Amino acid sequence: MSTSEKPVIVVVGSLHYDIMVDAPDRPRKGETITGFSWRPKFGGKGGNQAVAAAGAGAEVRMVGAVGDEDFGRFLLDRLVAGGVDASHVTRLPEVGSGMSVAISDSGGDYGAVIVSGSNLLLDPAVLADPALWSSAKALILQNEMPNAVNIAAARAARAAGVLVCLNAAPSRPLPEKLTALIDLLVVNAIEAEQLGGLRVTDLPSAADAARALAERFPAVVVTAGEDGVAGMRRGAHPVMLPALPVTLVSTHGAGDVFVGTLVSRLAAGHSFDDCLRSANEAAAIHVSTTPLAERKFLP
Ligand code: ADP
Repeated sequence: MSTSEKPVIVVVGSLHYDIMVDAPDRPRKGETITGFSWRPKFGGKGGNQAVAAAGAGAEVRMVGAVGDEDFGRFLLDRLVAGGVDASHVTRLPEVGSGMSVAISDSGGDYGAVIVSGSNLLLDPAVLADPALWSSAKALILQNEMPNAVNIAAARAARAAGVLVCLNAAPSRPLPEKLTALIDLLVVNAIEAEQLGGLRVTDLPSAADAARALAERFPAVVVTAGEDGVAGMRRGAHPVMLPALPVTLVSTHGAGDVFVGTLVSRLAAGHSFDDCLRSANEAAAIHVSTTPLAERKFLP
């Protein structure tokens, strides 16, 4: 398939320089401890979903903002290496790139600090560029950007006849102005419960949550981790797919691979059920493998 035949997706979202630290424990107030190892990681839900969508065959245009420092350069390089068009990513002087520090201890517990930095300062004016929406089929948004940016992006997408997908992660209340512009909502179990009020503990309860949320959104997908995924288009029966049996390495970023693959396949014109199946498979492969780029920083 030539580039011009690939479905075009716009991702408006976060880019984070993640520092992953392995340590015997997590430091308490006033304490300094010695860790075992650390590695930098390309992150931010927006960036991860953009790279996943490109990997699943889409032509992806990323809209975001990074700082004008080495961290911002790293993020841009990794986007481009992942096959993403980064020409709508702004470099902002006088503000640091979005970043996080995550500390994993030997007991398997985890603590993290995220600083949104440049992500909060994206100028929505960049969304007015008609070239951004030319031939676009779908837009992906997440909750790591300000609501004002998400609303402006969803409005521009609607005006261009582009499908709007919101991955409502992390969970926060959604303004009605945004809800009204969403064609497809993707949430995990926690987000589904916070948005829809129903607990998700297995696949049937994920389907119930999807059915309840489909009263507010035309199509809903509820991912349920190791249980799998449930999807529902308003007026149709829910679809339930168990997770594929794989040996788990890490669930980090599973939802992002799921969303990027799902929207890439939808934009290519495949059926809702087929797209759910592809995304479920891609996420299972992701949780059972460690990307080489991350592995090489391990001791
Ligand atoms: P998030 O990362 O957003 O919390 P989930 O944990 O629900 O999202 O995982 C997203 C998807 O990844 C699941 O719907 C499933 O397709 C896949 N997945 C997650 N955990 C596993 C697992 N242990 N085995 C196989 N697939 C998994």
